[in-house]
Amino acid sequence: MDSGFTLLERNILKAKGLTDDQLTSLVEMGVSSRASFSEVGTVLTLLELLPELDPAVATRALEWAVPTAAAAEAPAPPTSIVAPTINVDSSDAVFCASCQYKQPKDYTPGDLCVNCGRQAEPIEQCFWCGASGPGRRCRNCGAVFVPVAELPLALLLRRDGLAKDDIPRRLAESTPEEKDQLWGRVRRARI
Ligand SMILES: [Zn+2]
Ligand SMILES: [Zn+2]
Repeated sequence: MDSGFTLLERNILKAKGLTDDQLTSLVEMGVSSRASFSEVGTVLTLLELLPELDPAVATRALEWAVPTAAAAEAPAPPTSIVAPTINVDSSDAVFCASCQYKQPKDYTPGDLCVNCGRQAEPIEQCFWCGASGPGRRCRNCGAVFVPVAELPLALLLRRDGLAKDDIPRRLAESTPEEKDQLWGRVRRARI
């Protein structure tokens, strides 16, 4: 039975930045326990359920509830992420996100940094299909990743009907004023 989060879960989620209203909405949608977050699975899906949620809060909540879905700045590289060996466009040099060390030519997304041993690239979340992985592009659908902080903007542009390849470009080319306008729309938007 879904009676809602336990007191402890509630307090932890509030500490992560969720409001009472947001917790109530989640429970109404059936997300009512730490375990049910694993069905939500990704930051992207959580943001689709709660569009007004701050992406940073969504990321923290997911990191707590679903450690394997955790992103970017995890202190230790997650061992559960095994990247299939796919040689993507190797013309771009990859620099370690932790120590900036330039990775060798045979680097493939998901490799650990040869210098510091951390995940050389943060695990990103695809705005288009919701898959996550390292690298510049989604291995599932090929979309170029956008910064996690701009996921809600990418979702908005997707709802606007922009093409998969146009969204990252549009975000990269947007001025701060244009982004402010988009954020305004994100805040007003309700599914
Ligand atoms: Zn490194
Ligand atoms: Zn994708």
